[in-house]
Amino acid sequence: MSAPRLEVDLEAIEANTRVLAARLGSRGIGITGVTKAVLGSPAVASAMLRGGAVGLADSRVENLARLAAGDVESVRTLIRSPMLSQVDAVVRVAGVSLHSEPTVLEALSAAAGLAGTTHSVVLMLELGDLREGVLGEAMTGLARTAASLPHLRLVGVGTNLACQSGVAPDQDNMGELSSVVAEVEAATDARLSVISGGNSASLGWALRTTDVGRVNELRLGEALLLGRDPLTRMPLAGLRQDAFILVGELIEVQSKPAQPWGRLAQSAFGAPPARLGTGSVRQGIVALGRQDVESSGLVPPDGVRVLGMSSDHLVLDLGDSGARVGDELRFGVDYGGLLRAATSPFVETVDGSCQDVIRTEPSSARIA
Ligand SMILES: *Cc1c(COP(=O)(O)O)cnc(C)c1O
Repeated sequence: MSAPRLEVDLEAIEANTRVLAARLGSRGIGITGVTKAVLGSPAVASAMLRGGAVGLADSRVENLARLAAGDVESVRTLIRSPMLSQVDAVVRVAGVSLHSEPTVLEALSAAAGLAGTTHSVVLMLELGDLREGVLGEAMTGLARTAASLPHLRLVGVGTNLACQSGVAPDQDNMGELSSVVAEVEAATDARLSVISGGNSASLGWALRTTDVGRVNELRLGEALLLGRDPLTRMPLAGLRQDAFILVGELIEVQSKPAQPWGRLAQSAFGAPPARLGTGSVRQGIVALGRQDVESSGLVPPDGVRVLGMSSDHLVLDLGDSGARVGDELRFGVDYGGLLRAATSPFVETVDGSCQDVIRTEPSSARIA
């Protein structure tokens, strides 16, 4: 076994999906499982599908290609507006994509025509978070464009909140999404089948509201993978938070003074982290750095404290732990830590139950 490695508990992801699929299903909402934080891992995607996800989605064409090559049978949705330079690849690896630009819709229709396919599109509504999507008054115009293009099928509208500005989904903005559905249907004579109410941050609203309106889909990543509500980062009831463990190996363990000495200036990454205490600490260095994970995204084992992290060294106060050079330490990860570890070419992703390798290839793997 090599370190660093990210151990995945696929059963935890399946279980998290099953719990949410049951709760949302009773409200008429299906789950599209988002795999971008795990580089489009077919193993993780399959766990989501076993748990009841009805579709898969990713923000990267490369990851959707990995899902396609991994023989994961499911609808695949590209959840970031395609780059104009990638439309040919998009129609090959995704059946559906999210949109806010007429130029992109036109190019995508042309690409679908060349490929001899019809591609489904969902139009994104800006509801205040100020990331992707058109303002409400521009939606029917965009919908008419989409509906008029020969190789596209307009299947839905969606929104995304709480990513750029932290705007929380509530009855007002979600109600607006449902009203826009009616306007688009009236303007285009289409009956929309996908009303995508956002990411994991929409769960709180979706599970508590007495009126989901027309919303019938959520695109869930963090909630399925880490069992947390992104609005508060609190655990979601009944879900597991331990699906991912990052394992690193100790390369130095020595007793050192608690405080640095010499004239202090900047450290490798700006202001040095404050070191507390006096006397000496049992300092450990794990072969993990910012090329592998973010220190703020790590939860150290009990009794161990993170003192700092540079490109390749994670410096710890080992406290009373008896850990020695060569020992492995196990860390929990938050969403940022997971994203970085799962996409670092230096970190192997393995199935925690059998240590089978899920991913070794570098994240730069490109589609052909
Ligand atoms: C990342 C992303 C999601 C999933 O977000 P989570 O918070 O991980 O659930 C959904 N939709 C879009 C457009 C995204 O970019």
